[in-house]
Amino acid sequence: MLGGDLHSPLNQAIFAASRAMDAVLRACREMTVAGREERARLRDRCLPAFAEMRRLARDYFADRATIPPAIDTLERAVAELAGLPVPDVVPMARFQCPACHSRLERRNRYGGWAPFRPTNIFCGRCLHFITLALRTLETWEGGFGTDGI
Ligand SMILES: [Zn+2]
Repeated sequence: MLGGDLHSPLNQAIFAASRAMDAVLRACREMTVAGREERARLRDRCLPAFAEMRRLARDYFADRATIPPAIDTLERAVAELAGLPVPDVVPMARFQCPACHSRLERRNRYGGWAPFRPTNIFCGRCLHFITLALRTLETWEGGFGTDGI
């Protein structure tokens, strides 16, 4: 539901929010196949993205009261994913999730199933909590409206 002018401040803010959420999603995908130490590093790597989301919420989306709690929910989900009981170091989890032992998703860059040469390997089951929290932030009604991009 973007307006006509892609360079309007609001649309720029929507794109910035989309980039921040994408950074969190990418870090979390990596997190699902990582050990405890790497998970903590990836969680901390999300901090600037969360700061950016809160800044955008305050400066451009002050009328959407649902955004700040949705950001909090997402941050809690990221912390939860980082805190799952896994070995300290997981060398090359490629087929089985180190936390829930589900079979890992092996996807190409377009999201298609790529069993042999995947670009993205992650646990869809563990990532589910993140994607649920992200969905609220993507909507136009209660979030940044990035689903309109
Ligand atoms: Zn898992």
